[in-house]
Amino acid sequence: MSNDERTFIAIKPDGVARGLVGEIISRFQRKGYTLVGLKQVVPSKDLAESHYEEHKERPFFSGLVSFITSGPVVAMVWEGKGSIAMARAMIGATNPLASAPGTIRGDFGVDVGRNIIHGSDSADSAKREIALWFKSCELLTEVVRSSNLYV
Ligand code: ADP
Ligand code: MG
Repeated sequence: MSNDERTFIAIKPDGVARGLVGEIISRFQRKGYTLVGLKQVVPSKDLAESHYEEHKERPFFSGLVSFITSGPVVAMVWEGKGSIAMARAMIGATNPLASAPGTIRGDFGVDVGRNIIHGSDSADSAKREIALWFKSCELLTEVVRSSNLYV
């Protein structure tokens, strides 16, 4: 298992509006993961539709796209051993009412359409989503990170 596995995490407009950004970042930091990309954006319709393209035939698709484009999203890339599967475990089940307490959705949500946070579900999704939301120059490299540890 590689130490530099990367996953894409997005705090959705409900999570941002409810003031959960710091809490969520803190949970990933305390777990031991490294923040290698971070920005706040109101996603375009194109970006939202591409991000959720696997769901385009689902009845909730248009509502999902209009919600995700309705306000600021905090988009992040987190790096560390097992980060893709562990982030999904820390996030909890899609429906917050089915998410265990201790998970982000289990602790902070009750509605599947307002479930606070997105996390990549596989290595392929992580690669695709990171490339969709970030330019490579917006992500830290190993060199940049370690160069600021010591004078
Ligand atoms: P996850 O975010 O856990 O990977 P999915 O990929 O299945 O879940 O769905 C993407 C997002 O679509 C969910 O996070 C949720 O916001 C929304 N969604 C999923 N199922 C429903 C539903 N039945 N009704 C409304 N919104 C839904
Ligand atoms: Mg999903």
